[in-house]
Amino acid sequence: MDSARTALRLGARESIIVYRRSEQELPAREEEVEHAKEEGIEFQLLTNPIRFIGKDGAGAECIRMELGEPDESGRCRPVPISGSEFTIKADTVVIAIGNGPHSLVPRTTKGLKLSQRGNIVADPKTGQTSKEGIFASGDIVTGAATVIEAMGAGKRAAAAIDRYLKEKKE
Ligand SMILES: Cc1cc2nc3c(=O)[nH]c(=O)nc-3n(C[C@H](O)[C@H](O)[C@H](O)COP(=O)(O)OP(=O)(O)OC[C@H]3O[C@@H](n4cnc5c(N)ncnc54)[C@H](O)[C@@H]3O)c2cc1C
Repeated sequence: MDSARTALRLGARESIIVYRRSEQELPAREEEVEHAKEEGIEFQLLTNPIRFIGKDGAGAECIRMELGEPDESGRCRPVPISGSEFTIKADTVVIAIGNGPHSLVPRTTKGLKLSQRGNIVADPKTGQTSKEGIFASGDIVTGAATVIEAMGAGKRAAAAIDRYLKEKKE
């Protein structure tokens, strides 16, 4: 959402959000959607990208969707409408899909305390984890949040790391 709106503010002629379900299911705050529309963002709802096209005629090939029966999440499952493919021309495509913690770091770093969801447990003021000298911040600690929160937490952790290293040196 922020990438689409920022692109427009930076001078993009058009900025389009493509989403496979309807506005009702759109995973964004209501006021965010309203503000985006006011700002001039175009929404292509019930639409899913199926292929990105590079170089000549660059853009995203999309297909129209319709809502079917609810899935495990309780939301209606989007079903492609065959033969409805069309192309949206684009210079840049930003893919926005969900994410979650990867188990590599905890697997290779013994003694790192994790939450039930697999996020690293860290002091919110310093980023200090359960392992001395190991600091963490951002989504890996809080779960999916915002860029601003991750940046703030990163700055607090950097200051704490600096203090930690200076104390070690003394
Ligand atoms: C679909 C989606 C839409 C979002 N929309 C918005 C929005 O509109 N506005 C907003 O403010 N926020 C939005 N967010 C949330 C925002 O993207 C995150 O809160 C923010 O990026 C978190 O920053 P971070 O630095 O903690 O983690 P990340 O941005 O995830 O950065 C972690 C980095 O670490 C790297 N990494 C992972 N493991 C290793 C490893 N073992 N070695 C080296 N590098 C590694 C990853 O590749 C990644 O580059 C959205 C998130 C998603 C998933």
